[in-house]
Amino acid sequence: MSVRVRFAPSPTGHLHVGGARTALYNYLFARANRGVFVLRVEDTDPVRSTDASVTGILSSLRWLGLHWDEGPEAGGAHGPYFQSERRALYGERAAELVAAGRAYPCFCTPDELRQRREEQFARGDSPRYDGRCRGLDAGARARLEAQGRAPALRFALPESGAVAWDDVVRGSVSFQTEVLEDFVVLRSDGLPTYNFACVVDDHGMEISHVIRGDDHISNTPRQLLTYQAFGWEPPAFAHVPMILGPDGTRLSKRHGAASVAAYRDLGYIPAAMVNFLVLLGWAYDGKTELFTLEELERLFSLERVGANPAVFNLEKLEWVNGQHLKRLPLEERTRLVTEFLARRGHDLARHPAGWWTAFTRAIGDRLKTLADAESYGAFALQDALETDPAAWAELLERAGVGPRLEALAARLEADAEFSLESLERATRGLAAELAIKAGELMSAARVALTGRRIAPGLFEVMALLGRVKAAARLRDAAARWSAQSPHAST
Ligand code: GLU
Repeated sequence: MSVRVRFAPSPTGHLHVGGARTALYNYLFARANRGVFVLRVEDTDPVRSTDASVTGILSSLRWLGLHWDEGPEAGGAHGPYFQSERRALYGERAAELVAAGRAYPCFCTPDELRQRREEQFARGDSPRYDGRCRGLDAGARARLEAQGRAPALRFALPESGAVAWDDVVRGSVSFQTEVLEDFVVLRSDGLPTYNFACVVDDHGMEISHVIRGDDHISNTPRQLLTYQAFGWEPPAFAHVPMILGPDGTRLSKRHGAASVAAYRDLGYIPAAMVNFLVLLGWAYDGKTELFTLEELERLFSLERVGANPAVFNLEKLEWVNGQHLKRLPLEERTRLVTEFLARRGHDLARHPAGWWTAFTRAIGDRLKTLADAESYGAFALQDALETDPAAWAELLERAGVGPRLEALAARLEADAEFSLESLERATRGLAAELAIKAGELMSAARVALTGRRIAPGLFEVMALLGRVKAAARLRDAAARWSAQSPHAST
């Protein structure tokens, strides 16, 4: 059987972590089985669906690298891929069910339904449709229609029995049909319900496996009954476990940033996001945790998706992000760092491309997120230097700092070569002349140039700042030291 899977987002907001994981599992399952990954936009709710959300979801999927084979913009033989463009088809299919006696018109108004639900509730019954329009004869229907009532179409459930399936993730699942009601397939305004449109489309798009969150498990019996009513072969179902926040409740906005775009803006990179997402429910050998998308395209299998809920752990995401950043070739890391900084409003044109590579090389080993590039690299990105008060206080307690920094500034100004090697020679040479440890001079210079005790390698810092700025910062620190330090006169 050829594998065809789909990701079917409703465009009512951002692409969130849960949806992104569902998209990823579908994508990987398609790739691992040389199948087709379809993207279908479930925009039948005209009130809640927005174009902005479609654009956002598509761009988040692209950012993650989850390219779809069929769908919006990609096209394909099973389109249209927006449900809002498939309305005529749902109408035709619903009419087939009515003709086969598997669906019937229901004339009850929303007010009537609400009132009956309240009564059932008051009696302690579980609220469900009482089936009163199911037995209407043609005459009764015509009379109700003559009153101007537009009917919805309801599915005629079998009286009793069970619906069961062998879930790829959860094993055998079964529901008694008694817990269901004659659900609506087409609303009175002609719009299909999710369950109905989903079956018509999964069948029409020849979907072989439905991989989705287990919050949809209670929809599956209705969908299976619809397949039966049409006489269609249903796809295989794989319901992946829910994602919990660190407090053990279902992951939601309450747990902080939850959309893929928000994580991008926090400085997480696609490779890490994909790696982190796949581990929310899937494990390879219980040991290996770092994977690239290409590796996952080969290794992923539904058999290794567990049925237990997965816990979203931000520290883990940070760790995975740091590991991926570390493994990237410098060129690629530079691209990600500069893209991120540009989005944060930094003007890349201030420096030649080579400078940005040197910047990334200098700060690159410590990055957990791209946002760290902005804070760790602030000394080179900002004109004004912010000095850590504790680091500065420590300099004031040391004797001789001001004149030494002044002398170092003069050496830098005289260094025509201004390379990492020449800067190191100049600095170590000065320390030797002053008969102090090179480390002592260097730590003072580090605070003067970066405002911090922890910073990239000193000579890289000097090179990034350039002669003028580096010398100016050293002289500025020297002057401030002379004005503030109790050792200034000595
Ligand atoms: N539009 C549904 C959702 O976003 C799709 C569910 C499904 O995959 O069947 O939850």
